[in-house]
Amino acid sequence: MSDRIVVIGGGPAGLEAAAMAGRLGAPVLIVEKRSHLGGAPIAESYAALTHGLQSAEELMGKMMAAATDLDRVEVRTESEVVAMSGTGGNFTVTISSNGSEETVDAGAIVLATGFQHFDPGRETQQYGYYEFPDVITIQDAEGMLKEETFVTPSTGKPPERVAFIQCVGSRDRQIGNEYCSKVCCGISSKQAIEVRQQVPDARVFIFYIDMRMYGYWENEIYWPAQEQHRVNYVKGIVTEVLAKNGRLIIRGEDTTMGRPMEVPMDVVVLAVGMEPSPGTRHMADILGIATNKYGFVETVHDVLDTVTTAVAGVYVCGSATGPADLDDTISSAGSAGAKAVAYLRSGAEVPA
Ligand SMILES: Cc1cc2nc3c(=O)[nH]c(=O)nc-3n(C[C@H](O)[C@H](O)[C@H](O)COP(=O)(O)OP(=O)(O)OC[C@H]3O[C@@H](n4cnc5c(N)ncnc54)[C@H](O)[C@@H]3O)c2cc1C
Ligand code: SF4
Repeated sequence: MSDRIVVIGGGPAGLEAAAMAGRLGAPVLIVEKRSHLGGAPIAESYAALTHGLQSAEELMGKMMAAATDLDRVEVRTESEVVAMSGTGGNFTVTISSNGSEETVDAGAIVLATGFQHFDPGRETQQYGYYEFPDVITIQDAEGMLKEETFVTPSTGKPPERVAFIQCVGSRDRQIGNEYCSKVCCGISSKQAIEVRQQVPDARVFIFYIDMRMYGYWENEIYWPAQEQHRVNYVKGIVTEVLAKNGRLIIRGEDTTMGRPMEVPMDVVVLAVGMEPSPGTRHMADILGIATNKYGFVETVHDVLDTVTTAVAGVYVCGSATGPADLDDTISSAGSAGAKAVAYLRSGAEVPA
């Protein structure tokens, strides 16, 4: 029986699971395919994170230190798990790093391979993401906001009018993603505040089906966006983004007023949803664990246990299990790290 825990993915979920298992005394190996830890918030240059609006770099720096400062936690970056054999307590994991392969033993495995952003060119091309430089995504916006250079990409000038379009690639039966991605309403509202702070003369609009804020995001972001920062929320459906006279035009229906709308914008930000990362889909195959129809990993008890998979000794956490904000991610990751250690010590799953 091996006492090592292999954590696949070094984003917020993997870091928290590794720190938890390491603090509980288990040797941990984090396998991360990118050249750096920190997951999407670092790879996509997120600006401030909700809630609390703290710098993503600082928060992720703290998480990385909490895991990697522990002597028991080792990290392999630019590495991927390419094979797994054996059973709970006695897994053999093959890791490929820069062309060479190594085999390690592991008692338990935590899968934390996260999400990818919905590709707005996929069946939502009516928004012109690949056609118009001034149509961007929320992760593109994060990068500009982080550098405090929120401009109209085609001109390099501060925009006068900015629109956010919600639910791009989520809550959409036609493309098969019926689920809500949970974070995009909060993130768009946070970004709308940041745009107003960085470009005070800009008018900012959020076009939504219905706004879904949960927990503290309601009073920390949603109401201040309207009351202090004068962000305009428009209940409506945007069907198309066009270009006219060098400007973008948003076409759709204002559903509150019950009338068609056609409004000019300088920048359009698409609030793209979350889908399972290719790593999540691929690792689920290698580990032999079930996924749901969207490709997110399934756990055995859903509500009562959000981290235990049907393969004994294999746990999953964070956005590999479905759309998740950082609160959700950290909670499930701590649980996965602790349950993996409990499994190794007792040789049995912790009952739900
Ligand atoms: C634009 C945007 C802004 C956001 N802002 C906020 C916010 O302000 N507040 C908030 O609470 N949440 C926010 N979120 C949500 C937040 O990003 C997620 O909750 C969080 O990143 C999930 O962490 P994770 O570790 O599960 O996944 P990820 O961050 O996706 O990390 C997964 C890691 O696994 C690695 N990986 C993938 N495949 C493999 C493989 N095969 N082998 C090895 N490694 C692999 C990846 O490289 C990555 O490092 C935001 C999301 C978006 C889209
Ligand atoms: S969080 Fe908001 S924008 Fe994102 S899918 Fe849900 S309702 Fe749509």
